[in-house]
Amino acid sequence: MVAEVDAMYAETRSETGLRAMSPAVRNALGKVERHRLVPAREASRAYRNHPLPIGDGQTISQPYIVALSTDLLNPKPQDVVLEVGTGSGYQAAVLAEVVSKVYSIELIESLGLTAQKRLAELGYGNIEVRIGDGYAGWPEEAPFDIIVVTAAPEHVPQPLIDQLRPGGRLILPVGPRFSVQQLQLIEKDAAGEITIRNVSPVMFVPLRRPS
Ligand code: SAH
Repeated sequence: MVAEVDAMYAETRSETGLRAMSPAVRNALGKVERHRLVPAREASRAYRNHPLPIGDGQTISQPYIVALSTDLLNPKPQDVVLEVGTGSGYQAAVLAEVVSKVYSIELIESLGLTAQKRLAELGYGNIEVRIGDGYAGWPEEAPFDIIVVTAAPEHVPQPLIDQLRPGGRLILPVGPRFSVQQLQLIEKDAAGEITIRNVSPVMFVPLRRPS
């Protein structure tokens, strides 16, 4: 799986601007036991570079997208991260291998509780999962060095921009539901000014709002 992700980095180099996977992310991808975070019926497919269904109509991104988003955020060991869309907990685990603390919010209670239990079994003491609407972020723990959104809103949620530390970075897919979206990398500079870069076209499940 890691070799396939390496190959995709090479193919997409001109688009992403990244020459290769960073050693920290490669190490995390090699280490996280993806088969223990996906439903048992998907375990035999866990080490392919593919998206996988995780129940409740949700899918987890292919490992290439997880690696790419993490590398684009240039994470530092001391960083504190907010993830919106816990899903299986896989991306939270990859992040937890490279930063100090991960706060992750999931809207669907059954998915969030399952991920929380599996992450605890795998020994990730530096991940906190909460059930809620990630559109609003996690104000009690803000500001964050990094925010990763793993479901696509139609516009960038302002609360997430507000909860980004000056110098912080936010990555998210933005665009229409069930269609092609843009993976955007947003940076907030020391003065609080925002810059947005479109990285590549992607397809994520929609960011849902509670009814
Ligand atoms: N990062 C996850 C990917 C999960 S797919 C992983 O590695 O497995 C996206 C997830 O976002 C789904 O589980 C979906 O239920 C969740 N989601 C959708 N809208 C949300 C919202 N408003 N707040 C929090 N989570 C949301």
